Amino acid sequence: MRLIFLGPPGAGKGTQAKLLTEKYGIPQLSTGDMLRAAVAAGTDVGKRAKAVMDAGQLVSDAIVNEIVSDRIDSPDCARGFILDGYPRTVPQAEALDQILAGKGIALDAVVELKVDEDALVRRMENRVAETIAAGGTVRSDDNPEAFKRRLTEYREKTAPLSNYYASTGKLQTVDGMANVDKVTAEIAGILENA
Ligand code: AMP
Repeated sequence: MRLIFLGPPGAGKGTQAKLLTEKYGIPQLSTGDMLRAAVAAGTDVGKRAKAVMDAGQLVSDAIVNEIVSDRIDSPDCARGFILDGYPRTVPQAEALDQILAGKGIALDAVVELKVDEDALVRRMENRVAETIAAGGTVRSDDNPEAFKRRLTEYREKTAPLSNYYASTGKLQTVDGMANVDKVTAEIAGILENA
């Protein structure tokens, strides 16, 4: 099962990807998590990406295309994977098509979580409060200014992917405003038919 999750920041892509990872035994490939790991490890990629991420902007297509292509080659991706936060631009989607074709594999479905934008800022604030309450570290781009920028980046660069994948017949839309269990059940229903 090879899947893409689309949706704005705070739509619940990460939460749903984690739940489906357990259900299907396939890994969640979050480019955001991979980049944050690179920043924490102080790698070259991490050093190049940090300021861009903190400002809520997108890192270059070349960087993310390469890390995703390499990651897909790992043995744990042999049975499939869930891409969370990638592709985020039409050129990334085109690159992904080529990457997958080169490896002789194809996507099974693209699931878009539709949410009310006003709710997203509240979700981000809740996530920050929960992280602090649990004694965790708050993401450096989870602040109102960077979050606004992330939403703008989404509208301008990522939202066009809906049309891109609709034209392939693989796009499925889910109401991301429903509760977590309902969203998971709806996605599971889509995947059973994929
Ligand atoms: P996320 O955890 O998906 O919200 O991503 C956090 C940040 O990582 C984004 O705001 C971008 O700066 C960067 N990022 C993650 N995925 C991508 C991607 N596919 N293309 C460009 N930048 C990305």
